[in-house]
Amino acid sequence: MGKIEDLETINGEGYQLTNLDKAIALARANSVWPLPFATSCCGIEFMATMGSAYDLSRFGMERMSFTPRQADLLIVAGTISKKLGPVLKRVYEQMAEPKWVLSVGACACSGGIFDTYSVLQGIDRIIPVDVYVPGCPPRPEQIIEGVMNIHELVKKESNRRRYSEEYKHLMNSYQIDIDQHGEAK
Ligand code: SF4
Repeated sequence: MGKIEDLETINGEGYQLTNLDKAIALARANSVWPLPFATSCCGIEFMATMGSAYDLSRFGMERMSFTPRQADLLIVAGTISKKLGPVLKRVYEQMAEPKWVLSVGACACSGGIFDTYSVLQGIDRIIPVDVYVPGCPPRPEQIIEGVMNIHELVKKESNRRRYSEEYKHLMNSYQIDIDQHGEAK
């Protein structure tokens, strides 16, 4: 978990200076609101991750959001059929920036054991993924490690990334048009 001591600071008598980017990133990393998009068995593992034994609320993440506009982290856990793909993409587009995606389990990462005509062979075919958690199913400890990796990404991200040409290019590669604020149109 990020602590204020983790920030690079210049300290003096009665004052402490840091970089605004880093302070905002630290606050973001410790208040990520997840949107669980759980369709099958991996969703049950995610429920265990939320339970008292593993307790995701230790990381400021106890507030599940089922409305995309109030979520920062899309957690996709389970098999995604091709028919469901457009729904997942719509949910992703409706999330406000900045947003991140955690792909949980073999099915979400690559289609898993379902190499069939009806199953999407990985959600990164329709939306960008930040962190992949392997396993069928991954244990809650693995999901927590995935979440920790997301936190590290959030802490290192510059506030300007979402306005950059590289980010626009990434979104365009998924046929997602974004406006000047980086939001999906
Ligand atoms: S990866 Fe395994 S456990 Fe997870 S949804 Fe697919 S079949 Fe179920």
